[in-house]
Amino acid sequence: MKVVLASNNLNKIKEAREILNELGVEVISLKDLGINIEIEEDQETFEGNARKKAHTIFEITKLPTIADDSGLMVECLNGAPGVYSSRYAGEEHNYERNNQKLLDELKNKPKPHRAKFVCVINFKTNSEDEIFIGEVSGEIIDEPRGTNGFGYDPLFKPDGYDYTFAELPSEIKNKISHRFRALIKFRDYLSNKFRNDVINPDLYPHS
Ligand code: IMP
Repeated sequence: MKVVLASNNLNKIKEAREILNELGVEVISLKDLGINIEIEEDQETFEGNARKKAHTIFEITKLPTIADDSGLMVECLNGAPGVYSSRYAGEEHNYERNNQKLLDELKNKPKPHRAKFVCVINFKTNSEDEIFIGEVSGEIIDEPRGTNGFGYDPLFKPDGYDYTFAELPSEIKNKISHRFRALIKFRDYLSNKFRNDVINPDLYPHS
C-alpha cells in the first residue's frame, strides 16, 4: 500500500517513513509525485487544516493521503497560540519572536503554565475519512533552554522530564511527541485494517 503525505517537510516525511515502513506501507511525498502546491492553512481548527490539506491532495492524486496540522495550546491563554502557532508574533514571525510573544503573554499569569502540543492527522481515501489525534502535556518555562528541535521546543518541558524538548535528544522527543503519538494511532488503525481485510469472512466466504 502507498500513502501520500501531503507535506514538503522532510522531517515529517522521514518520521512517517520510519513508523509506517514496518507495516510495508510506502510513504510518498508531494515532491516524489511532482506536485508543487502551497495549501493555505486558513481553517480555525487543527482538524480543519489537516482535512483541507489531505482532501485537496486526495482530489489530485486519488491515492490514500495523510496530512497533519499541529501546534501548541496553553491552558491559561484559552488554547492560544493554537492554530496560529507558526505565526503567533504576527507578520514578522519567526521561532524566536513567537517564543518571546508567548513569554510576554504569560508574564502576569499564575504558574504553572500548563500546556500541550497537539497533532491532528487526517487520512483520506475513497471510502475513509479518519482523524487521529496525538497530544503531549507539559509546562511552559520562564526562559528558553536548549538548542535541539524547533518552534516552541526551548520553552516546553514535557511532564515527567526535567528537560525541555530542545534539551532532550531528538530520539527521545520523537518517541513522546504529539506527532509520534498521532502517527502511532494511524499505524495501529492501518494494522487492524490489514488484519481485518485478511480474515474478513465476507471477503473470504469459503475459508
Ligand atoms: P505545522 O503543523 O508544521 O504547521 O506546525 C505549526 C507550528 O506549531 C510550528 O511552526 C511550531 O511553531 C509549532 N509546533 C508544532 N509542532 C512542534 C514541535 O514539535 N515543537 C515545537 N513547536 C511545534
